[in-house]
Amino acid sequence: MSTINETVLEIDLNALSQNFKYLKSRIKPETKFLAVVKAYAYGSDSVAIAKELSNLEVDYFAVAYTNEGEQLRDAAITKPILVLHPLPGTYEVIINRCLEPSIYSRKTLKAFIELAEAKEQTNYPIHLKFNTGLNRLGFTENDIPFITETILSTKSVKVQSMFSHLAASEDLELKDFTLKQIDTFKKLSENLIKKLGYAPLLHCVNTSGILNYPEAHFNMVRSGIGLYGFGNDAEENKNLKPIATLKTIISQIHEVSKGESVGYNLGFIAEKHTRSATLPLGHADGIPRSYGHGKGWVTIGGKKAHILGNVCMDMIMVDVTNIDCNEGDEVIVFGPTASAEDLAGVINSISYELITAVSQRIKRLIVRN
Ligand SMILES: *Cc1c(COP(=O)(O)O)cnc(C)c1O
Repeated sequence: MSTINETVLEIDLNALSQNFKYLKSRIKPETKFLAVVKAYAYGSDSVAIAKELSNLEVDYFAVAYTNEGEQLRDAAITKPILVLHPLPGTYEVIINRCLEPSIYSRKTLKAFIELAEAKEQTNYPIHLKFNTGLNRLGFTENDIPFITETILSTKSVKVQSMFSHLAASEDLELKDFTLKQIDTFKKLSENLIKKLGYAPLLHCVNTSGILNYPEAHFNMVRSGIGLYGFGNDAEENKNLKPIATLKTIISQIHEVSKGESVGYNLGFIAEKHTRSATLPLGHADGIPRSYGHGKGWVTIGGKKAHILGNVCMDMIMVDVTNIDCNEGDEVIVFGPTASAEDLAGVINSISYELITAVSQRIKRLIVRN
């Protein structure tokens, strides 16, 4: 029998602090550390994670959207929070909740300054995002005269940081591209600092950038996936521990005779006598339908049990013909002993997608293992 009685996502705060310490050991003591806690801290629990990291030496937090920052402020998180992609309609909330916006275009710069002036702000911290090759968000070189003129003509804002984002920091086959991005960032920052007359914090690496490009750490590094236990590399994974374990229990076991089917649209037809275990989680919980028909698996008693037929909304059926197990037994979907990266890999996905997809209806259980 299991110690749990429903599907849970266990979140190990000791693994989090170990991962944090490891990542810190890979940067200089004076380099600041920004913890990325967007998307519920990669599917875990952003409040629990931010609280734990607040007690460690984290300098900054980042979220993607303004409402995510609000949620942290509501939970009494007081450290600076960079909002990576705030939409102009939320700038009022940004200022009211002391969140720090990423400003990535002339339009967003003008809109933010207009509001900051109307709200009589002085030196409100903003973060300028530069595009160095990802072509997603960001200013380019041509915008620098506009940026500096605009900023120097108001007292309402100050540039707290200037940053960029790497497109392929985990892929060493694309090292030339990454080095070019880093070089572009360096040149842009020198140019901006000269015209601005002061030096904001500079940062451009994510987790894989921390690990692969120590020369590009600048004043601050940004880590998400590393904190949650993945290094995007088999060797680096050994130094990190996944903080989240998605666990469930067996609801019911069926003996399926040869010729019988299992699940919607007779997705599985037994060619021989089969034992099928029904589990209480499905595509609405973050198990993609593409895991059906044997592609995906869970771990029961240390053995792989593959999915039979179609993934349902709230359930999956798995093959336990060769596994000694009972109703109520514990099932691991992913965790430190059942890699989310491997499971994601079979459907050409990545750890990031699988772990962030765990639905909010699944209970989060905070542990310290
Ligand atoms: C999500 C994100 C990160 C974190 O990347 P990881 O690979 O998870 O470390 C860093 N910077 C930006 C701009 C991001 O959007």
